[in-house]
Amino acid sequence: MARPPMFQRATVTRISKESADARTFVLAPHDGPITYRAGQFCTFRVHVDGRDLFRSYSMSSAPETDGELMTTVKRVPGGAVSNWLHDNVVEGDELEMSQAAGRFCLRETRAPLLGFSGGSGITPVLSLTKSALATTDRRIRLLCADRDRESVIFDTALTELAARYPGRLSVIRHLDSAGGFLTPEAIAEFVGSDGEADSYVCGPEPFMEMIEKALPGPGLIFSERFGAPAPMLPGAEAPAADTVTAKTPETPSAPTNPAGEGTVTIILNRKKKTVPRNDGETLLESARRAGLTPPFSCEAGNCATCMAKVTEGHATLRQNNALTDDELEEGYVLTCQAVPDTDSITVDYE
Ligand SMILES: Cc1cc2nc3c(=O)[nH]c(=O)nc-3n(C[C@H](O)[C@H](O)[C@H](O)COP(=O)(O)OP(=O)(O)OC[C@H]3O[C@@H](n4cnc5c(N)ncnc54)[C@H](O)[C@@H]3O)c2cc1C
Repeated sequence: MARPPMFQRATVTRISKESADARTFVLAPHDGPITYRAGQFCTFRVHVDGRDLFRSYSMSSAPETDGELMTTVKRVPGGAVSNWLHDNVVEGDELEMSQAAGRFCLRETRAPLLGFSGGSGITPVLSLTKSALATTDRRIRLLCADRDRESVIFDTALTELAARYPGRLSVIRHLDSAGGFLTPEAIAEFVGSDGEADSYVCGPEPFMEMIEKALPGPGLIFSERFGAPAPMLPGAEAPAADTVTAKTPETPSAPTNPAGEGTVTIILNRKKKTVPRNDGETLLESARRAGLTPPFSCEAGNCATCMAKVTEGHATLRQNNALTDDELEEGYVLTCQAVPDTDSITVDYE
């Protein structure tokens, strides 16, 4: 089934303070309710200082338990969008948001669920927890790490849930201020005899890497990485900050496949451009080389902001943490990860 148009407007109906530096934004999309699964995220397009910026934020609500759509944003020191949302958006304002995407979701199983969150990583983990409690009889244990007591997000919400589901949900809090960073030994001890559990991990990159290595298995590990490079719209006037942290260089690499051995045709904003195919270049890179300004955000295959449909030819995805099997079958690709494997290819962003 094809996705509806990428972005729609949504009114911020309520903003609540979760901690010193985290806010929940309650959103009412103008085109009707957004269909989403617990653990998924939406990408927001905001206009900051003359630039269009794209950032993804996970839902803290769950479709089965919350009538409202909510996302929770934590300030990132020096961050363009998180601080803009905190400092500028008030109740009644409108934001532009995408459809939901992501694979950090529950699977059909009765296996226990272990959640590991660091800081704002609790956002999708709370969503998953609410959904699993409401729709399954799975046992859930969370290990939530935060810098200090002031930084803890959803303390009351999780305490209330644990009280409502005795014997099914338990929450262990770890404060760096009291005990330093979590260690592999602490993770092994927390897992105990639940090695078969599904583990959901979301937090800062070093936190995630440590936990992924420390998990003893054989249970499945689901990871959601927030730590994407700073996104920007190519062609837009961008400050050094975003340019420095962008993962893909703005200047394309030298072609290794000379013109005449295949083409990449890109359709975007009713424009159609064709460029010679360069070996190993992603469709997003080809589109930029063609002088177009396609949308993108994470450039890591996580967020689906750059998705488009291949209408002729074929491409292979280096990474895909966002598209469903149905979408892949219909020809959708993440252009930041899609490398053509036919001589010529046509990709349509419409
Ligand atoms: C799938 C997904 C889901 C997410 N869900 C959530 C969520 O639910 N809640 C949440 O709070 N976040 C979430 N995020 C993270 C979010 O998308 C943003 O990455 C985050 O808010 C930071 O964006 P920003 O614009 O504020 O910071 P950016 O402007 O992107 O900056 C990020 C960091 O880089 C530093 N930086 C920027 N430029 C430079 C430079 N030139 N030199 C040195 N340092 C620099 C900044 O100081 C800052 O520390 C999610 C991310 C993904 C990919």
